[in-house]
Amino acid sequence: MKYLDEFGNPVLARRLVEQIHAVTTRSWAMMEVCGGQTHSIIRHGIDQLLPDGVEMIHGPGCPVCVTPLEIIDKALAIAAQPGVIFCSFGDMLRVPGSGQDLFGVKSAGGDVRVVYSPLDALKIARENPSRQVVFFGIGFETTAPANAMTVYQAKRLGVTNFSLLVSHVLVPPAIAAIMESPVCRVQAFLAAGHVCSVMGTREYPPIAEKYRVPIVVTGFEPLDILEGIRRTVVQLESGRHEVENAYPRAVRDEGNPAAMEMLRDVFEVTDRTWRGIGMIPNSGWRLSPKYREFDAEHRFAVTDIHTSESPLCRSGEVLQGLIKPHQCSAFGKQCTPRNPLGATMVSSEGACAAYYAYRRLDLVQLS
Ligand code: SF4
Repeated sequence: MKYLDEFGNPVLARRLVEQIHAVTTRSWAMMEVCGGQTHSIIRHGIDQLLPDGVEMIHGPGCPVCVTPLEIIDKALAIAAQPGVIFCSFGDMLRVPGSGQDLFGVKSAGGDVRVVYSPLDALKIARENPSRQVVFFGIGFETTAPANAMTVYQAKRLGVTNFSLLVSHVLVPPAIAAIMESPVCRVQAFLAAGHVCSVMGTREYPPIAEKYRVPIVVTGFEPLDILEGIRRTVVQLESGRHEVENAYPRAVRDEGNPAAMEMLRDVFEVTDRTWRGIGMIPNSGWRLSPKYREFDAEHRFAVTDIHTSESPLCRSGEVLQGLIKPHQCSAFGKQCTPRNPLGATMVSSEGACAAYYAYRRLDLVQLS
């Protein structure tokens, strides 16, 4: 596949690995923020090719994983209401809430539908004017523009039976929160390329400067990640802490101005709780007052939510890079993708799911 296969070229990959080894003189710990990058690293064994002491810490950039339990429970309560059509991307259906998941609501008779775009949910709303249609709008800066566009279109078309259950989160405040943590070990970041393709890179220099950490905008294919790591190690070894763009085929410094304008119109910044991590100030978006009528939380006013996490699940520590997934005692035992105790095991971008898919046989042999 042109433009994709070439970023998995083994000869070039070997060359980059050699360059990383050649430049490394000591131990370094760097965090890949995005869960998609985590999966690529674990799937291709990139972390196992690095020099001893160069550690990849897996970050909180899995949108499904960090969606707060309270919002999941609200989604379950709304989806169970008669007359509601609850639409979501498929990866949210098996995310455990306090008592069940959206599949459980569906099997109990709720009208829960998997869609591939928020615009599909808007179409369902227009086709079913007597029903309330809700789309579960979660994710980082990457998925937010499509959700913003859908709400904008709903308002423009006068669709009154559509609403969005919003739980958007923002990467730069999360990076700052990680660096503020007293137990932080992260010395550099691979920033998520797709987030920067929307938002650009201009939010990052103040963070790099304040915390004296290199931030390298990185893509998702093996060569992208190796090049991101190589540039990061070069900066660390030379004592620099700059923002570099190692993903120029998708990212421009200014980002996508049209998408950012749509985001500014539809959303406003708010404090947001991240599942397993806690509240991070100014780390999320909610609908702005101009679009508040499309906010499912206001429309359905679900209250009386009492959240309860599995006492075994350590996904908060996984998401903050404090432990690796297999260091959780439930990994592969009480917790599997078929029987997940936490969202990090069920999401296609979750670190626990990555270790289960690509490492569990190695880990079993080691134990
Ligand atoms: S392995 Fe399961 S129980 Fe353990 S942290 Fe991951 S999701 Fe939670």
